[in-house]
Amino acid sequence: MASELLELTVARAAERIRSGELSAGEYFDAYREAAAGDPLNAFLWTAEGPDEGGAGEGELSGIPVAVKDIFCTEGVATTAGSRILEGYLPPYTSTAVKALREAGASVLGKTNMDEFAMGSSNENSAFGPVKNPWDHARVPGGSSGGSAAAVAGRLAPCAIGTDTGGSIRQPAALCGIVGMKPTYGAVSRYGEIAFASSLDQCGPLTRDVTDCALILRALEGRDPMDATSVGIEGGVELPSREDLKGLRFGIPRELASDAEGIERGVRGVFESTVELIERLGGELAETELPHAPHGISAYYVLAPAEASSNLARYDGVRFGPRADGDDLTEMYERTRHDGFGDEVKRRIMLGTYALSSGYYDAYYGRAQRVRTKIAEDFARAFESFDFVVTPTSPTVAFELGARTDDPLAMYMSDYCTVPMPLAGIPAISIPAGLAEPDGGGPELPVGLQIAGPAFSESGMLDAAHALERAIGFDSVPGGGS
Ligand code: GLN
Repeated sequence: MASELLELTVARAAERIRSGELSAGEYFDAYREAAAGDPLNAFLWTAEGPDEGGAGEGELSGIPVAVKDIFCTEGVATTAGSRILEGYLPPYTSTAVKALREAGASVLGKTNMDEFAMGSSNENSAFGPVKNPWDHARVPGGSSGGSAAAVAGRLAPCAIGTDTGGSIRQPAALCGIVGMKPTYGAVSRYGEIAFASSLDQCGPLTRDVTDCALILRALEGRDPMDATSVGIEGGVELPSREDLKGLRFGIPRELASDAEGIERGVRGVFESTVELIERLGGELAETELPHAPHGISAYYVLAPAEASSNLARYDGVRFGPRADGDDLTEMYERTRHDGFGDEVKRRIMLGTYALSSGYYDAYYGRAQRVRTKIAEDFARAFESFDFVVTPTSPTVAFELGARTDDPLAMYMSDYCTVPMPLAGIPAISIPAGLAEPDGGGPELPVGLQIAGPAFSESGMLDAAHALERAIGFDSVPGGGS
C-alpha cells in the first residue's frame, strides 16, 4: 500500500486527498518513512510531520515537498551544503517555501546539494555526495542533486531546487525526471541563499510535466521582498496538448550536431526524440546560436564574480561557526579557510581576480558582452521558432569521483544548459529515454531540453506534455551499485 502511494503523481495524490479517498496524514507518513530510510544521502533533514497550517484548501493540499537546503526555513537548519552555515537557523522563511505552504503543501525535508550550488555532481557538498537512484555508484548531477535523487528515488513526490547554470535541469536529466528553470524574475528569490544573483532562479523537480506546472503555478508571482521578481503574467496553465501541430522547433547546431563531447547514446536518444516531434506535427529545422559555445567561458567568469561578492558576508560574525583568531582579520581568515570547501574557494579566488581593477574589462566586461551576444542569438532564433531543443546534458550520469580532479570536465556538464540562464530565458528538461554511457555501462536516463522565449512557460509546458505522452518514458530506477 505504502509503495503504491509512492508511485502517485502529485496531481493524482492531490485529487485523491481532495476527494477524501486518501488521507493527507497517511500520504505524508508514507513519504516520511521513505525519506527517513534515505539510502541516497539525499536529505540533510527530514520533518516529523506535516507543517502546521499545511493540508489546507489549496491545489497542493496534503502534498509533501522536498526543499533544496538553499531555501531559508525559519527554525530549521539551512546550510546551502556548506560547513560555514552548519547549525544556522534562519529567522525567516523564503517566499518560495511560503508559497508552497499557502497552496497546501508541507515541507518533507531539506535536500543535499553542492556547496552554495556550485557543482554538477553533488560531490561538492560538505555533507557527502548524493547517490543516483539508478546506479548508486554514479552521481545524481548537481547542484540540486538531493532534490532530483529524492524525487526519482521515490523519497519525495516533488521538490524545488535552484538553477544558475543548469542545477535543476542537469540533475533532472541524470535522474530521469522533469526539471524546469523558469524565466529570470518568474519566482521570488527572497530567502534563497544567493550564488550568482543575475542568474539564480528557483524551479520545480517532478515526476511529470503536469506536476511541474502545478508546482510552478504555486511558486510564480511578484514578491515585494524581491525587487527582481515579476511573476508570470496570466499565471501558469496546466498542460493539455496532445500534438505539436503548428509549433516550430529549432535545433541549434552548436548545442546538438556540432557539439563536442556528446555521448553516442545521448545523441541517439536525442535523434529519436526529434523524429517524434516531427511525427507529432511539429515543424523542425536546424538553427544557429553562434555564441552559445562561449557560454561556459562567460559563465565561469560571471558566476564566480557574483559569488565572490555574495559570499563575502560569511565571515564568522553573523552566520554559522566562528574560528578563533588573535585579531579580527585572523578570525575572518580562519573561519573562511575552515568553512568553505575547495570549489567554493576556487570560485571566490577566480571571481575576485576577474573583478580586480586592471582586469575588470578584460574578464568581467568581456564576459558581459558575450552574454549579450548569447541573448541576441536566442532572440534571433525565436523570430523563426517557438522553441529550441537540445540534449540537456552531454552525458548520462557519470561515476562518483570521475570528474572531481578535473574542474574543466565538470564544468562541461553544463555546456547545453548554461546559455539559457545567461539569456534569462526558461527551459525544461524531460526524460527522453535510456542510453549506455560511452565505453559501456548500465542504461541510464537521457534528458531532452526545450527552451523558449521569456515567459513562455505555459506554452513550453504544453509542448513538453505532448512530447512526454508520445515518449511514454515509464522506466523507474532500479538502484544497485
Ligand atoms: N554546475 C554549474 C556550476 O557549478 C551550475 C550550478 C547551478 O546552476 N547552480 O556553477
